[in-house]
Amino acid sequence: MTSDKLKVAVRIRPLSMREITSRCRIILKLTSESALSITNTETSDEKLFSFDHVFWSVDGFSTNSEGILVPENQEGSPYADQTMVYTDLGKDIVQNAWEGYNSTLFAYGQTGSGKSYSVLGNGPNIGLIPRTYEQLFNEISSNNEVKKKLQVTFTMVEIYNEVMKDLLVPSKTQSAKGLRLRQDPNKGFYIEGLKRIPVQTYGDVKLFLKQGVLHRTTGTTNLNATSSRSHLIVTVNFKQIFPNSRGESTTKTSTVNFVDLAGSERQSKTGALGDRLKEGASINQSLLSLGNVISALAEQAQGNKKIVIPYRESVLTKLLQSALGGNSRTVMLATLSPSENSYEETLSTLRYANRAKRIQTQAVVNENITD
Ligand code: ADP
Ligand code: MG
Repeated sequence: MTSDKLKVAVRIRPLSMREITSRCRIILKLTSESALSITNTETSDEKLFSFDHVFWSVDGFSTNSEGILVPENQEGSPYADQTMVYTDLGKDIVQNAWEGYNSTLFAYGQTGSGKSYSVLGNGPNIGLIPRTYEQLFNEISSNNEVKKKLQVTFTMVEIYNEVMKDLLVPSKTQSAKGLRLRQDPNKGFYIEGLKRIPVQTYGDVKLFLKQGVLHRTTGTTNLNATSSRSHLIVTVNFKQIFPNSRGESTTKTSTVNFVDLAGSERQSKTGALGDRLKEGASINQSLLSLGNVISALAEQAQGNKKIVIPYRESVLTKLLQSALGGNSRTVMLATLSPSENSYEETLSTLRYANRAKRIQTQAVVNENITD
């Protein structure tokens, strides 16, 4: 068993068209490879934060012939593109999967800050999930251990209003109450009856991702027309079965979760009314619980051993229990707008991410031997 610190990265997206036309100033500044400052333009107060990685994706990019955003010139361009984010955050996940460790990566930030862009991608700018699986399948196809059986399965679930929906089956066939959460003494919380699809190629994963995203429930708010009020969890299970020297069969498994969280903004800013507000209330409950769990874990890491970690407060925290405090190597990617009009939200995201830095998990190799 190893103790692993939660890896925390932040990524700053370019100014949006709207921010450019309203002449918004950029309030974030890269101060080193892994630190940034945020300035309050009213008071000139400046605060400094450091993380494991700071991805500056604000400027210095151009679009190549395939529509992919790339650094403008190789030397000196500060732009952190999708490849760079994958190299720093995704590569280890694939390596861990071969070793039999679980991984979780979750994206946190206000709506429109680049969570889905980073995790799923946008058009040809594919994100962490497709890249991770592209790499995993590349490695699987070049693996020449003939006695090894390799199996990959894929699940995709959405949490919306504390209700879990299977994104790999049509909505019409699912009850409004959604899927049920069960607790297993060994596995912890899991979703009963969730569809697990065996996948053989990267093409399969692309197809199911696309299908799942289409099934996702989305809401429209004033803040961002494509804003998503739901949490998305994509899980890939990787199993390696091979005979050991004593003729027994060894099974190594790794569960990899990618979590695209709902927007972290406070409800007032979106001008939500009626149903939207109700949704907002319970989405905030899930994110609030996540915040409470992170705070409690951070306190625990500082020596408060008596503290109870409130995993049971929401569906999200039950599902993320082992990712946050247990058997997983975990990465938090906090996404930020660089614009002055997002000052409050950006500062709050930075503080959230800063707290998460203290968390430690205990990842173990998941290995079973059978005769
Ligand atoms: P979120 O999922 O947090 O609501 P999105 O990922 O949908 O936000 O991003 C909002 C918009 O900003 C999208 O149009 C997206 O393409 C763009 N965007 C986000 N991050 C980046 C980035 N790093 N580089 C370029 N464009 C980005
Ligand atoms: Mg999104």
